[in-house]
Amino acid sequence: MKVTFYGGAGGVTGSKHLIEVGDNKILLDCGTFQGHRQETRELNSKLPFDAKAITAVVISHGHLDHCGSLPLLIRDGYEGRIYSTDATKDVAEWILKDAAHIQQMDADYMNRHRIKGPELAEPLFTQKDVDEVMARFIEVPYVRFSQEWFHLAPGVSVKFYDAGHILGSAVIVLQFEQNGQTERLAFTGDLGRVGTPLLPDPEPITDKVENLLMESTYGNRVHRSIPEAVETLRDVVNQTYKRGGKIIVPTFALGRTQELIYVLHQLTDKKLIPRMPIYVDSPLATNLTNVFTRHPETYDEEAWKDFGKKGDLPLAFRNLTYTVSREESKALNTKPGPFMVLSASGMCEAGRILHHLINGLEDERNLILITGFQAQNTLGRRLVEGHKAVKIFRQKFSVKAQVEVINEFSAHADAPALKKYAETIPGLRHIFLVHGEGSQAEAFKKLVSQDHADWQIDIPQINQSFTLQNH
Ligand SMILES: [Zn+2]
Repeated sequence: MKVTFYGGAGGVTGSKHLIEVGDNKILLDCGTFQGHRQETRELNSKLPFDAKAITAVVISHGHLDHCGSLPLLIRDGYEGRIYSTDATKDVAEWILKDAAHIQQMDADYMNRHRIKGPELAEPLFTQKDVDEVMARFIEVPYVRFSQEWFHLAPGVSVKFYDAGHILGSAVIVLQFEQNGQTERLAFTGDLGRVGTPLLPDPEPITDKVENLLMESTYGNRVHRSIPEAVETLRDVVNQTYKRGGKIIVPTFALGRTQELIYVLHQLTDKKLIPRMPIYVDSPLATNLTNVFTRHPETYDEEAWKDFGKKGDLPLAFRNLTYTVSREESKALNTKPGPFMVLSASGMCEAGRILHHLINGLEDERNLILITGFQAQNTLGRRLVEGHKAVKIFRQKFSVKAQVEVINEFSAHADAPALKKYAETIPGLRHIFLVHGEGSQAEAFKKLVSQDHADWQIDIPQINQSFTLQNH
């Protein structure tokens, strides 16, 4: 078995891992790189392998850094199918359509301002490309619905365990059968937290698996408990409300947005926070919330206990508004506080959140509430690091608003939970740490090695290959 890490190695974006056994080449995830615009555009404009040679593609979940390069794969001649859960297919469709739209707008902007020089800028892919991607999907049920191995190619099959990260997310287990021998490799994709509202906990793997590709986003972090985080949220919301400020929350359109809405719904019902106007100002988040509503089979039991019986929807309540039009969004710029607005993108790199920050950063009554991982070189990271001034659209703004970080609603497991997850896998011998910045992966390797000297743990570099012996 040969494993090559084409992305999501030494960093958290661009997830792409190629597994080769015999004639079979299975691609795990096909995600885009995010960060510095110029660099990532180059990385995202061509694939580092021959798309025509790939046998099958399996997608762990619908975040862009895990599925955003699927249109390129098909453009480059990939002829096979794309395997994912039912909900991931729906999520990926919205995420890819949104990305195509943003690229079109970017290209139009560059052409209007002649940024690229004489030749016209083109989007990396279009709506039509997304339609072609969607026609290739095959839905695979979670193991809790079907214990059967799902056939991918001669001698290769797959199982999906719930990863509890976002709607539809899966831990992928590949099984290779060759010359009477069976070999297995698992890929966590992104692994969720235990005990988060709405989504189920990550489901333990019960098959014997020798090799594991494991995410390590928070490999050096211990999260506070969810109830502690809810208390902090309650306190900062009440403080900001009292001073008449706005609460500006950059969120990913999927995951944190829905979890926060759920928690805010509970806090409001229990009268622990005032019934203030809350806006979800992201068309993508709104569309994805609808996908959530269509997939109640993916909620955890608690969500049903809390809201299901009352005929109450977890993600809808009286003072919550999903904005649709640009006008509604713009009106929030001049609206006086107190109110709360959740808007994308989660790392403050693009989208409507930038306008809310432009209008909100310089007022000390306001609160910028950071609720997720902020990658290097992003505006969100600079806010977390406490920069006193930041640039948005080439203009300088001083940061006078309070900046508060609550990472506990993060859709990623912390170090102890990652370790525990690996420890429950029967027969594990070899771990590759992916999807983590260097220091996070190194710290996690150290933590795990202390208790498991018999496990081989590697931190692959980008484009690095490993040949694994059959055990
Ligand atoms: Zn993810």
